Amino acid sequence: MKAREFAERRREFAARFGSGDEPRLYFAPGRVNLIGEHTDYNGGLVLPLAIERGTYVLMRRREAPPTRLYSAVTSLEAEFDPREPGAARRGDWADYAIGVFSILARERGAPPPCEALYFGDLPLEAGLSSSASLEVATAVAASSLGIALSPEEAARVAWRAENEFVGMECGIMDQYAVALGREGHLLLLDCGTLAYRHVPFDLPGASLVVSHTGLRRSLLASEYNLRRRECEQALSLIAGVVGERENLGAVSPEEFEAAKDVLPEVPRMRAEHVVYENARVREACAALAAGDPEELGLLLNRSHASLRDLFQVSCPELDALQEISLRQPGVWGCRMTGAGFGGCVIVLLEEEALAAYLDTVPELYRRATGREPSFLAVSPSAGARPL
Ligand code: ADP
Ligand code: MG
Repeated sequence: MKAREFAERRREFAARFGSGDEPRLYFAPGRVNLIGEHTDYNGGLVLPLAIERGTYVLMRRREAPPTRLYSAVTSLEAEFDPREPGAARRGDWADYAIGVFSILARERGAPPPCEALYFGDLPLEAGLSSSASLEVATAVAASSLGIALSPEEAARVAWRAENEFVGMECGIMDQYAVALGREGHLLLLDCGTLAYRHVPFDLPGASLVVSHTGLRRSLLASEYNLRRRECEQALSLIAGVVGERENLGAVSPEEFEAAKDVLPEVPRMRAEHVVYENARVREACAALAAGDPEELGLLLNRSHASLRDLFQVSCPELDALQEISLRQPGVWGCRMTGAGFGGCVIVLLEEEALAAYLDTVPELYRRATGREPSFLAVSPSAGARPL
């Protein structure tokens, strides 16, 4: 985003909220997950990256309540009493932000009244985690109100906001990726212990593209909750054979193989996905360390097959886009990314093949599905920060 747009947004802020102190500007990126899908709420490993696009927020203190929030993305304003943010749940976009104020109020005492203008270049509901971006941007911007949070604290407050206030029981990957992204790096996160490490994405001549099916995720909430229960069921049956384990992420492939015969078909398939997906994240880190895009591509393809056949969260559009992508010259690998049932695939391909990919794939995909895809080249970028 350019300096000219920031200046325009500052004028918009003044027009809406009146003159006064200059508001401070903060940014939080979106994210995409390279590999490690449906492992986060199983305490497993994930390997996401923060992207260049994200959510910007201009924020400053106000003399008196109410707190006023405006999103230029949705053209909607919300007001609430900062002494009682927990009472302000509305069922719309502002809950992602108010939820952060509400968690902060519980953990640190109510933040002072403020006014904030949100804007950005991240598509909403497109699998790039605009919700975590909005939450983490709000948490980081709270430093303008005298509330300083480390990136880990900002991620945790944002995650609690989405779970406890918005009511979406998501894993913690998105908020961590958004808060802790690093330019040129992926974030290897153990969702069980929250230990993390930045892994260099150093594959000369390789590019990443996120290709959207044009299909909004449907079925998501019900199927997502069902998968969580199936994983819990699998875990308790496996524990009966190999002993107590905290979560499926702590079950090794060997333990799974030893226990799998006691599992009914569905929980067995779910557990097999999680256990081997977890192993694939480790293998992906090894492939990155070895500078081997071919091996990384194969792991992406195996991840997709497992999500499609074992975890059963793909859909015909994701499968079509994955297959079409794989047929293109210079493509090393491709898999669905995000919770599934629509949304995006991520493609690892040769930089030199990118233009031809973007030229050819839309028409092939349209013909196969009748849907309109969209594409975004991404590269690992820095996490949330003041600007
Ligand atoms: P995703 O996180 O994959 O983009 P979600 O459904 O989890 O999709 O969250 C999207 C919702 O987050 C939007 O529908 C909107 O309510 C809210 N949101 C995210 N970013 C913004 C923004 N900049 N302005 C207003 N609302 C936003
Ligand atoms: Mg989201």
